[in-house]
Amino acid sequence: MAGEKKPGSWKVPLAGLGGFILGAATVLLVVTLYGQLGGRPPEPRTVSPPPPMAASPAPTPAAPETERPAAPVPTPGTPAPTAPRPSVLPAAPPPADLAARQLLIPVQGVQPQGLQDTFDNSRSGGRVHDAIDILAPRNTPVLAVEPGRIVKLFTSAKGGLTIYQFDPTETYCYYYAHLERYAPGLAEGNQVARGQVIGYVGTSGDAPANTPHLHFAITRLLPQKNWWQGEALNPYPILRRGR
Ligand SMILES: [Zn+2]
Repeated sequence: MAGEKKPGSWKVPLAGLGGFILGAATVLLVVTLYGQLGGRPPEPRTVSPPPPMAASPAPTPAAPETERPAAPVPTPGTPAPTAPRPSVLPAAPPPADLAARQLLIPVQGVQPQGLQDTFDNSRSGGRVHDAIDILAPRNTPVLAVEPGRIVKLFTSAKGGLTIYQFDPTETYCYYYAHLERYAPGLAEGNQVARGQVIGYVGTSGDAPANTPHLHFAITRLLPQKNWWQGEALNPYPILRRGR
């Protein structure tokens, strides 16, 4: 069709317009659905805490994952590919006592302003990240954020080589994952100093092979003080005050 206009053929453009609107609506719907379901960058770096070891006499109830269920679906119509922090509060604001400790950034050479808040990012299975990813070249030293006790060296499918460290008051647990290797001689029960090298950045577990990074999480321990249980705290605002 050449698109010429004839008197009396108004139905054609009108029909065309209707078709266009219908098509646009369909596209919008598809985009919206896509934006909700798959619009976020896939990130297989989810790390869930492993189940408790069989060492305990009674099998502990299925280990809950540190990851929270994802927040409610964002408002439709505004697909947010890389959603910044939603206005809903994360699990908890940073506890004042923890924030005041000025934790060390756990990757050597990384400055506070180089951190990115990925705490609320979605992960597979409708979960959220509940951690911060700190990118660094493979084998960059991983440092203890403050003094404390190495409670568990654990290998899991998702987290790879991981370290669980309690803080000096045994109120919080620091979790370091995707390590390339542990520091030589590191063992469960060790007391470590702030800044002590405890491991090295890598891609163990489900980290992309070409994206070495430290997955770092903080939990507030439950009264039982189990290393695999706790309330997720966002490390970002805490580490931003660190050095
Ligand atoms: Zn991560």
